[in-house]
Amino acid sequence: MSEFEIKTIVNPQTADREYIREVAETKRALELWTMEPGFRERFLAAPEETLAAHDLSVDALAVKILADHDTAVKYQKTPPAELPRTVRRYRGFIREKVTERERMIKEFCVPKHPAFRAWRSRQINRCWAEFGARNRSLIHVPMTYELDLGCSVGCPFCGLMAPRLQKVCRYDEDAELWKGVLDFAKETLGDAAGQGTCYYATEPLDNPDYERFVDDFFEIFGIVPQLTTAISMRKPERTRAFLSDALKKYRRIHRFSVLSLDILHKIYETFTPEELTCVELLPQFTEAPQNKFANAGRARENDTLHVDEGDGNTISCVSGFIVNMAERSVRLITPCGASKAHPTGELRVAKEFFSDLDDFKQVLLSMIDRYMQPEFPKEQPLFLRPSISFRKTEEGVECFHSDKFRLEFRGADALSPALYQDILDKLQAGGKTACDVAEELTEETGAFPAHIFFILKKFEKAGLFLEPYECEGR
Ligand code: SF4
Repeated sequence: MSEFEIKTIVNPQTADREYIREVAETKRALELWTMEPGFRERFLAAPEETLAAHDLSVDALAVKILADHDTAVKYQKTPPAELPRTVRRYRGFIREKVTERERMIKEFCVPKHPAFRAWRSRQINRCWAEFGARNRSLIHVPMTYELDLGCSVGCPFCGLMAPRLQKVCRYDEDAELWKGVLDFAKETLGDAAGQGTCYYATEPLDNPDYERFVDDFFEIFGIVPQLTTAISMRKPERTRAFLSDALKKYRRIHRFSVLSLDILHKIYETFTPEELTCVELLPQFTEAPQNKFANAGRARENDTLHVDEGDGNTISCVSGFIVNMAERSVRLITPCGASKAHPTGELRVAKEFFSDLDDFKQVLLSMIDRYMQPEFPKEQPLFLRPSISFRKTEEGVECFHSDKFRLEFRGADALSPALYQDILDKLQAGGKTACDVAEELTEETGAFPAHIFFILKKFEKAGLFLEPYECEGR
């Protein structure tokens, strides 16, 4: 193999142990940089010795380029072929993960149901306005599943404010319902229904039957859902067995939330770097040098956690349904910035309960029907989103949200800048329907209705209007 060749690791083209070891050890060195107090200083003073003290034999210069900002800047213009091999291989691994995430957003998570697809697309566009570049990391999963009600861990930073563990769904009692729910989700949404996880505001390993539920998920979708666990060390042998089986069936990235330095050390004593190649470690303890709690949920209430100042954030990446098997409920949510009104960074559109499989089918279809319009009816009163600002420009109009987002609509030919501006004036009055706008502007300016409807459709697709269910009572 040429040393310039970059191989995929999450979906390995080869069982090249040395290649994987090199990436895995680099990953561990970078984790130490972000999580182990004092590692950075020790490494900068004595790179090789510090890596050796952690049984790592990777190239110290490569670690420095990847971890240290000043060194990265120094090597910014170095042609890739002249960078240390380890840097190229590690960056190849990161690119592989990013590419997979982008495919999830744009391909795998797109539901086949047309109304659901249109609604999800509007939510994604709304989130560009509300989160800016941060929206790149939100998958907007259309369907996810919870096997318990609440969570046993009780993290003080929990972005979803998970309540205490109250109930778990047992496989022996609910296997048939579970398989029926998955089958119907697949029938309705297509393969996108298998892109979610089997946890949300829950801890997956709280459920003693988690592995059995996941086996059915694999049977139906051919996918092992991502595991994110905060209790990887509660029963290390269970975690190891799950990972080993899961990665044999379906290679993907899983995650451990690391709640303390002590847990980090236990993880490192238990798992080799190679075993954790496909497991991201998330620093979730205050001593970790690069720990950052999201400004959402309980972290916002807890002064000692030092959340980011400024706008509320979210850890939710669901634009769609959460099916809770323990309390038999379906909720429809989509991300938003955490605020007093939406402390968990989720717009909770609706929640309904079901009693059995037939009821689940009826509830799911009726929620899609009620809340997800393929397009807005022309008699629908239109309200611009209050979270987005609008102004006229020389070329048309633009919308923006602080310094995070700017979207320009430039007029040209028949769709002149003045037409965009006239439409904005009408919309800013609030509550006019597309028909009202067309009728008034045709009479006042002689504009063609077809052009007006075309521009209004562009605004609608960009997620700039409140959804019909958000306008109720206005
Ligand atoms: S962050 Fe996860 S593990 Fe912690 S309380 Fe919330 S749901 Fe449970």
